[in-house]
Amino acid sequence: MRLALQYCPYCGEQDLRPREETPETPAGAWECADCRSTFVVTPVPAPARGSA
Ligand SMILES: [Zn+2]
Repeated sequence: MRLALQYCPYCGEQDLRPREETPETPAGAWECADCRSTFVVTPVPAPARGSA
């Protein structure tokens, strides 16, 4: 499954914009255009495949 953020976790708005990476903003940060919240999506690696 691909990492796709569709909804603001705070207000549920769908108008999300990726933030530029700056010294104050960590990589992977998104900003909600509605409530202006900034949040970071942490990629979670897929479970290891079964042994072949
Ligand atoms: Zn929001």
